[in-house]
Amino acid sequence: MSEGDRVVTHLFECKEIGYRGWRWAVTVARASRSKLVTLDETVLLPGPDSLQAPEWVPWSDRLRPGDMGPGDLLPTEAADLRLEPGFSGEDTPPPNSAVTDAVTPQALAELVEAEDAEETDRDDATPLTERGTIASVAEELGMRRARVLSRYGLHIAADRWDESFGAKTPMAQAAPAPCVSCGFLLPLAGSLRQAFGVCANEFSPADGRVVSLAYGCGGHSEAAIMPTPPRPAPHVLDELGADAFPLGPPAADG
Ligand code: SF4
Repeated sequence: MSEGDRVVTHLFECKEIGYRGWRWAVTVARASRSKLVTLDETVLLPGPDSLQAPEWVPWSDRLRPGDMGPGDLLPTEAADLRLEPGFSGEDTPPPNSAVTDAVTPQALAELVEAEDAEETDRDDATPLTERGTIASVAEELGMRRARVLSRYGLHIAADRWDESFGAKTPMAQAAPAPCVSCGFLLPLAGSLRQAFGVCANEFSPADGRVVSLAYGCGGHSEAAIMPTPPRPAPHVLDELGADAFPLGPPAADG
């Protein structure tokens, strides 16, 4: 195989066990007007039928649900699309807000006390000046974490749960009623509560799992209203009692 002016590569079959189909490529060259041929390089190259290792795949792409074991750590990338920054702690109230700088903490405390005497009697660890701030609301909503689920993260979680415990599963199709009307359903917090809850029926296949409100199973709390057993009708023939049956003719009176 010519590589250029006075440069050629010869291919030799590799005889090493385990390198079936590989070839030694030996490149030789000759300088202009020289009669000597020099060896440039030798390299082992795969041929069209050679046995090769599969293409390397990063561990993060190879990971599958259920692969993690006790003690394993799974770092999340900084640019993970499933997450977005939570509330950073920068509390900048909007203009004209009750918690702007124009309102002193003392004045705010007096205002709150006057409006809600009952509230001020409460033994609350949160200072009055912090109530109603963006930070406290974010804390209450669970947003005061370094990162929270992004819209994309919510969507793929909902798709996953719907696939396992959704309306299209055979169990749901045969269920007497959906989870939304079941007494064993625990509601979720946040936006996903519109479509999902947690099943708390120990006899259900979905016990402890997030289920779609359209899912359902035979363990639905209202599925089997046991009918009261009907009262048996009185016997027409009394087969339990004994009838006296004389063996001879009745004795003549007198
Ligand atoms: S018991 Fe069945 S119907 Fe009720 S919440 Fe659980 S899965 Fe849904």
